[in-house]
Order: sequence, then structure tokens, then C-alpha cells
Amino acid sequence: MKLETLLAHASDSQPQRGSAIAAPIVLSTTFQRNPDGTYEDDLVYTRSGNPSRHALENLLPYLEQINTEAKGPARAFAFASGMAAVSALLHTLRPGDHIVLPDDLYHGTRHLVQQVLADWHIEHSIVDMRNLPAVRAAVRAPQTRMVWLETPSNPSLKVTDIRAVAGIAHEVDALVVVDNTWMTPILQQPLNLGADVVMYSTSKYFGGHSDLLGGALIIAPHRVARLGESLRRIQALAGGVPSPFDCWLMLRSLPTMSLRVRQQSTTAARLATWLSAHPMVHTVYYPGLPSHPDHALARQQAVSEHFGAMLSFRVRGGAEAARLVASQVRLIAQATSLGGVESLIEHRASVEGPGTPTPDDLLRFSVGLEDADDLTADLAQALAALPA
Ligand SMILES: *Cc1c(COP(=O)(O)O)cnc(C)c1O
Repeated sequence: MKLETLLAHASDSQPQRGSAIAAPIVLSTTFQRNPDGTYEDDLVYTRSGNPSRHALENLLPYLEQINTEAKGPARAFAFASGMAAVSALLHTLRPGDHIVLPDDLYHGTRHLVQQVLADWHIEHSIVDMRNLPAVRAAVRAPQTRMVWLETPSNPSLKVTDIRAVAGIAHEVDALVVVDNTWMTPILQQPLNLGADVVMYSTSKYFGGHSDLLGGALIIAPHRVARLGESLRRIQALAGGVPSPFDCWLMLRSLPTMSLRVRQQSTTAARLATWLSAHPMVHTVYYPGLPSHPDHALARQQAVSEHFGAMLSFRVRGGAEAARLVASQVRLIAQATSLGGVESLIEHRASVEGPGTPTPDDLLRFSVGLEDADDLTADLAQALAALPA
């Protein structure tokens, strides 16, 4: 089935659905044994399994639209947040293992590796993933166990060639993990480009309404034997599971994800073009712009003619000017995060904290579902506040 059809029927896999058209929610933390001591559908206790979570986990692999030649099914695990998903995956590493990270990845992932995992003797290298010789120089057998990708990157929207990096990583049998939060499976399907694991912060476009936290890992079919059981154990024992209510909310949001993401991306492309022509803006980062250095690669890797609903732009006048613009918008909210139906803008360097490589005149913009003309009018009046 096509992605939109799968999404429209997101809650059909609920086992206790009966004849209800809308999905039920199972809040129970515990489940009764049969008289013979067995459990119905292997449901024991919600940390190890819950019908609302299973409905979500059963659906997620299909959204990646994995090529049908794949042997066996992919497998998905849902978590309480994107960072709980990242953390669970990194729990599969052992002391002395090494991972390669992109130079402008999500700051939470970088901080987890540098501030928490360093104490566990997990080593890391940071490279610009567009520089393939640098990636090759960073991977080392047998220590390198993972190469982490985020494309487009956060917040400078650099585009990585997933297939090319996967080729290098697989030479040393390292797993290729793609944080696909910004693109969603609607716009990019990394498992079909050679990645082994896809990670999502489902707090963003999957939830889509800035009202739930969630994370997910989807394991490629040929990696399920290596990773599936250990991730199931970590999920149940480390316990970073999503609440049934958040799973249910997500199942309610998924039927509109494709419409939302494509409309938000269309508006983002218009705003990127408009911002590029504004005299107070000196650089716009958006892979959909023909002037973007990785535009051709972005077009080739995308599953549709859309380039995502995230963009960044740099204003003339440095950090002070950027903060002023963020404080002057009226329709657009000044807030962190992304992927909701409402547009958000933020001065990214302030959020990422000291030592961030993000330029201090950069504003990151999550484009929502408002009308494009209303958004440009709001940006125009905010940019007009800058001294010419
Ligand atoms: C938000 C985000 C995360 C972290 O997800 P949480 O749900 O906030 O824990 C990870 N990666 C990317 C790209 C994100 O945008």
C-alpha cells in the first residue's frame, strides 16, 4: 500500500479495537493471566508491552517503504522521547567502541556522547560528513561500531550522501544510523539508501502538534538479528518507554502527517526564496534552493519534490540583530523545537550554548501550516526593525 493509505489507517493494528472506527487507548499498566498462567497476546506489564505502543511499533516499519527484496521484516521500537531512542541505541555499545558523528548534529546527541558516554569510555570523532575522505580517515576497524548521520543537518542544512557514507562504514562493519527527524519517511527513506537504523524524534512531525514527546528506532531487516533482541531488552529494562496516551495521540496525528509535511515544505520553499532576496538576510540555508551547494544530491535522495519544512537564515548585524528579529515576530512564535502546525523561530546559538559551532547571526525556522503570505508579512515587519 501507498504511504498515505497506511497513515490513514494508522490505528487499524490495535488488537483490542473490535468494531470501533476510532482507536481505543489501553492505559492499563498490568494484564491478567489466563487460568493456565499464560498471558493473552504476551501482554504482561506495560513497560515490556502495551497494545497502544504495539500498534505504533507495528506500523512504523511499513512507513519506511523498504524495498520488497529485503529478507524478513524490519522492526521498530518506540521510546519516551527522541533522546531516549538515541540513548537506547547507544546502550548497545561497549567500552572502547568508537562512533563517528557529524559536525553539526542535534546538540542533545552531541552532549549525550560527550558528557555522559565519555565516562563509559565510548570514543567519538566528529567530521563533516560531506567530506568523504575525512569520513574514511575517521572510521577504524574494529573499534568503529556506528556512523551517525543527520541529513539535512541541524541547523546548517548540509546534505550528506547516505549511500556513499554507508559504503565507507560498511567496509569496517559499522552500523549507519540516520536521525531522519527533519525529513520523516514522507520525504526521505534512509533504509533504502543503505542505512541500517533510522531514528526519529516523533515529538516533531510524527506528533505534529507540539503536544507529545516520543522517539523511535526502525531497524533494517538484515540488522534485526544483530540488534533486535538487544534493543528489546534495553527498551524494557532501561524503561524509556512512551506512555500509552502519547502513543495514542501519535496514532491520531499520523493520518495527517503526509499532508502536513508536504504543505509545510511547499511553504518553506517559498519562504526560502523570499528570504534569499531580502537585503537584511545575507545567507539562507535550504536544500530546495537551486543555489544550495548540495541541491542536486538533496533532489536525488528525496522521495518527492520536497526538501523539508526547516530552514535557517543569517541576518546582517550579528547576534544582536538576529535576537531582535526573533523578538519582533508576532504570528511566528519564538520557541525551540520543530515539526508542529505552528511556525517557530529561534536564535539557535543561544539554545545550543557555549562552544556551539552555530553562527551567532543564525535564526532557525520551523515552518508551520499558516498561509505563506501571512508568514512573509510577519518576517518582513520583523526584519524592518533592523537598522538598515
Ligand atoms: C528534537 C530532536 C531530537 C531529540 O528528540 P526529543 O524528542 O526532544 O528527545 C533529536 N534529533 C533531532 C534532529 C531533533 O530535532
